[in-house]
Amino acid sequence: MAAFLEKLPENLRAKVRLSDRGCMEWQGEINRNGYGRLWFGGHRHMAHKFTFELYKGPIRDGMYVDHLCRNRCCVNPDHLELVTPRLNVIRVHRRRKRIDEEGNLVGGKMKPTQVVAP
Ligand SMILES: [Zn+2]
Repeated sequence: MAAFLEKLPENLRAKVRLSDRGCMEWQGEINRNGYGRLWFGGHRHMAHKFTFELYKGPIRDGMYVDHLCRNRCCVNPDHLELVTPRLNVIRVHRRRKRIDEEGNLVGGKMKPTQVVAP
C-alpha cells in the first residue's frame, strides 16, 4: 500500500483513485466547482485541504491550497501548495492568459500589486 494511503483514515482510503498522472482523485462527493468534499470527525471538509493538513501541516489563516496539477479533485499532498491570496489570484489570471510573463494584467488597468483576492 502506498505510504499516502496508510496515513489516510481507513474509511477514506477507498475514495481515492490513482490516475496516470499521479493524481489521487477523490471519488467521493464533488462540489459544483469540482473540488472534493468529505465528512470526517462530524465536520465537512474540502478533501484537498484535509489531506494537505494531514500530510503537510496546518493551513495558516488567509492562505490558499493551490493545485499544481490543475486537477481540482486531486488530493495528493505532493500536488498541493500553500499560496498567499495574491499569488493565488495571479496564478488564476496567468492560467486564463490574462497576465503576461512580467505579471502585468493583459488588457486591464490594474497592476498585480492592486489585485485583491475575492
Ligand atoms: Zn494531482
